[in-house]
Amino acid sequence: MISLHDLTKIFHGGIRALDGVDLTIADGEFFALLGPSGCGKTTLLRTIAGLETPTGGTVRIDGRDVTALPPGDRDVAMVFQDYAIFPHMDVTTNIAYPLRIKKVPRAQRTAKAADVAARLSLTELLRRRPSELSGGQQQRVALARAIACHPAAFLFDEPLSNLDARLRLEARTFLKRLQRELGVTTVFVTHDQAEALALADRIAVMHQGRMIQIGAPADIFHRPHTTFVASFIGSTPMNLLPADVTPTALHVAGATFPVPPGVTPGDHITYGVRPEYMDLSPSPRPDAFPGTISVLENLGTHTLVTLETPDALIQAVVPKGDEPPIGTRAWAVPRRSLIYRDETLHTTDHQQAV
Ligand code: ATP
Repeated sequence: MISLHDLTKIFHGGIRALDGVDLTIADGEFFALLGPSGCGKTTLLRTIAGLETPTGGTVRIDGRDVTALPPGDRDVAMVFQDYAIFPHMDVTTNIAYPLRIKKVPRAQRTAKAADVAARLSLTELLRRRPSELSGGQQQRVALARAIACHPAAFLFDEPLSNLDARLRLEARTFLKRLQRELGVTTVFVTHDQAEALALADRIAVMHQGRMIQIGAPADIFHRPHTTFVASFIGSTPMNLLPADVTPTALHVAGATFPVPPGVTPGDHITYGVRPEYMDLSPSPRPDAFPGTISVLENLGTHTLVTLETPDALIQAVVPKGDEPPIGTRAWAVPRRSLIYRDETLHTTDHQQAV
């Protein structure tokens, strides 16, 4: 179990990379830290690893306060984006390296390296050097090295980002299976929301050194607490449309809905709909956004349709073949909506037409 209490890191020049982070990661959990570049993900991971000293707050691993301990005494293994495997050592020596540091006898560490290598399908490559390996194989060597020393936790800093798209998907599935098998608590940094949704038991979305939302992938996807999280999660971004509130109706990009409970005229309201929850109608209806089809993008089994309205561009994902031709007049009907008041989630209830 990793617990962080009021963790703050201020770098020279006053950059506040971590701003009062409170977080508990359960034993055996696969936890993703997700957020845009510069939000503090790597700093948080390095602080857990002991590679950065926090300005304030505490880091506990399995109940033990490790805040002042050096990395080697924390029982964690970190895998970096560039793998950081030693170019002059062969695969066996690389995998066995942490055991050598722990003064494990040579025969024992060679046997352990061979055992871990077998698990990761590296047996054929044990005599090779990193320069003779593909990116995916190097990544497996870095993982094997992390596994060999049986740490209490794995800390991964974008370990898949150097792989090409296909290999990345394979490595993702492999990593997920491996983590399940080993049951080791894992903290995984990524700026790729699809990767976080696919891998993690829970996700923390970070922004400017703070935790904006922590939850299961489905929760973060269906109930993003702020418009920031809403716009960050999902392979096609959520439609976020400004709404006008009158005493009798909510007006959004040419559509009209009942006023949601608790909303009053003058409130700053944003109406959110995921493109996947938008249908297209060929005829007018009051609870639909009228527009003209302007762009069609092929998503394989589906098409991403962009509808141009006088106020906004609205996107819908429809099954391939259901998309109207470019230039057609169409009405986008929300099936499931979220109402944000002052950028914060107010309700997820879908409002029927007036
Ligand atoms: P990325 O996805 O681009 O790797 P990140 O979310 O991992 O970004 P961090 O690397 O943790 O972000 O950086 C957080 C903030 O701290 C950034 O503003 C960065 O410029 C700053 N920062 C990071 N390391 C240092 C340092 N050694 N000295 C000064 N500022 C730093």
